[in-house]
Amino acid sequence: MTDVDDERDFYGTFSGEIRQARQSLWLWAPWVANRIRSLLPELRAADRGVQIKVFIRDDTDQLQRKDTSQSLIADLRAVAHTVIPMHVMHQKIAVIDERTVMLGSLNVLSQSWTREVMLTMRGAYFARKLLAHEHAETFARPPRCGRCKGAEIEIRRGKNGTWYWRCYAAPCKTTPSGRTPPWTQDIRLTSGR
Ligand SMILES: [Zn+2]
Repeated sequence: MTDVDDERDFYGTFSGEIRQARQSLWLWAPWVANRIRSLLPELRAADRGVQIKVFIRDDTDQLQRKDTSQSLIADLRAVAHTVIPMHVMHQKIAVIDERTVMLGSLNVLSQSWTREVMLTMRGAYFARKLLAHEHAETFARPPRCGRCKGAEIEIRRGKNGTWYWRCYAAPCKTTPSGRTPPWTQDIRLTSGR
């Protein structure tokens, strides 16, 4: 472990880590709010070839649904390689270059006033084990919708624990005769969990 940060110190540590990133930045950050404005310049690391993949909470969430959040999510999509919505997501993780893990209670893209703690830990084995646990590689490759062929795909998990893709495009759920259940497809996990 290299750092323990509270909500004040975290962003200095985080910016330093992103500036040194050379290959990849994985983020699990449920909400997108004003905080992201100060981070967007750092996320320009994508211009240097750093692959940025972000999991955020889906739009059925009341905060995430707000116009400001939607506009900031559009800004995020403009810089990140992949942004995947996940229903009722609550993990708070950053993994840099599959070697550095930042993990704790802080919502990296939305923190504003609450007390938090984040640990920074180094180690490729731990970093990869965490990525595998979160099914990062599989979840970052959503399929096209089997009905509307669109790319508005989110991740959900059923009560039985099964993960599935779900199309959230509004037109896809509307037929001439009314609403129809959204298109879904079970996610095939490679790591056997
Ligand atoms: Zn669809």
